[in-house]
Amino acid sequence: MKPFSSLSDIRIHLKSGELTCLSLVEYYLEKIENSKTNSFIEVYKEDAIKRAKEIDAKIKTSTEKKLAGLIIGVKDNISVKNKPLTASSKILKNFHSIYNSTAVKRLLNEDAIVIGRLNCDEFAMGSSNENSCYGPTFNPHDVSKVPGGSSGGSAAAVAEDLCLASLGSDTGGSIRQPASFCGVIGLKPTYGRVSRHGLIAYGSSFDQIGPITKSIEDSALIMEVISGKDDFDSTCSFENVPSYSKSLSLDSKQLRIAVPKEYLDADGLDDEIKSCFIDKLNKLKSLGHVIEKVSFPYVKSLVPAYYVLTTAEASSNLARFDGAHYGFRSNEAIDIDSTYVKSRSEGFGLEVKRRIMLGTFVLSAGYYDAYYTKALKVRRIIKDTTQEIFKTFDLIMLPTTPSTAFGLNEIKDPIKMYLQDIFTVQANIAGIPAISIPKGNHTNNMPFGIQLMADLFEEEKLLACASYMMNELN
Ligand code: GLN
Repeated sequence: MKPFSSLSDIRIHLKSGELTCLSLVEYYLEKIENSKTNSFIEVYKEDAIKRAKEIDAKIKTSTEKKLAGLIIGVKDNISVKNKPLTASSKILKNFHSIYNSTAVKRLLNEDAIVIGRLNCDEFAMGSSNENSCYGPTFNPHDVSKVPGGSSGGSAAAVAEDLCLASLGSDTGGSIRQPASFCGVIGLKPTYGRVSRHGLIAYGSSFDQIGPITKSIEDSALIMEVISGKDDFDSTCSFENVPSYSKSLSLDSKQLRIAVPKEYLDADGLDDEIKSCFIDKLNKLKSLGHVIEKVSFPYVKSLVPAYYVLTTAEASSNLARFDGAHYGFRSNEAIDIDSTYVKSRSEGFGLEVKRRIMLGTFVLSAGYYDAYYTKALKVRRIIKDTTQEIFKTFDLIMLPTTPSTAFGLNEIKDPIKMYLQDIFTVQANIAGIPAISIPKGNHTNNMPFGIQLMADLFEEEKLLACASYMMNELN
């Protein structure tokens, strides 16, 4: 069987009878078995086969729903009913989810098949997928390199063709950065576009679930299914959900694209990525679009503000993992104090502990105003300045990452790792939607992405522009 690159391609073969969901599931199961990336940490073999047979029966009577044939993997911080859910952390060992996340429930209602659970950085904290209790995921393009993180398993699995699509989560770039490193498409929706019900919380005012796919069409299809109001998440928007997959052509002949110039001067931006990015801008100009350099003078404040705010939120969110409520409890726990202290000391990994401590510090009485309140003010300025740009522009365009995938164990300094997020966190701080499309091939043979951002709830425009650029920018 050849690798499929979109659901519509699969659907043609399913409809003609040349392909069945069962044979498709068997194809992916075999590929997972022979995978070299450690992206799947659990495969739902029996369930997937059973569901494939049920959906094949529906296809015979033409009663299947719109995602029939979509074989999808789910990041290990998004709940699937009756399956283990660990956020790749020892502290959630043996924890099983008793309900489906809203995103998964909506996919299942449209006849998607969930094939398994995907590796990630512990509690979605990381940019390399090296912080996982299951060991790192490897980049399918070069297994000596990282796939990016935290949704490293989600991106590597799609790139290695172990499933057609996957769900990831993005708090500061965790969908887009691995998509860029692995050469696939990753979309982070507007904050509040997709319900967070059933997503293990990291930074609750930033977290969003989104799709990783090989085609824009599939990204749009998944988005129109998983988006929209949800009684289980009060931060989820009531805003109408357009049929994203039906509006992938551009309305306007001339796009106005802003390029914040400070980013291109950022330390550590790879020369080839920069020159390829500039080539793409020139190509867009020659196609009649308006490209303008704008000023966004807060680039240096993005990563610090992000890490103050997200660690603060994480320190509060992760307080519930105490050895009593969920998963792991230390064998040495004998009373309430030792249950908390030993279970948390043994259960959390190094990076998660670092962030809990940092978050607790910035929220502590003596430092709250100096760090937390100040970061909130910076967030407001970043949001307002971003919003201002969209008054006169359709898109902001940037590289997705400063470099291509780096080597395993290459980045040991946490600050250096945090700086990997320089191009991605603006979208999370401002709450806007952003997408990474694979549009570069480095002479080191690794892929990299170009990132587009649009105004709040403009996923429809974002996807249409991404689709246009996938076709026009070669
Ligand atoms: N690399 C960022 C972090 O470690 C982003 C993570 C994410 O988006 N979940 O926080």
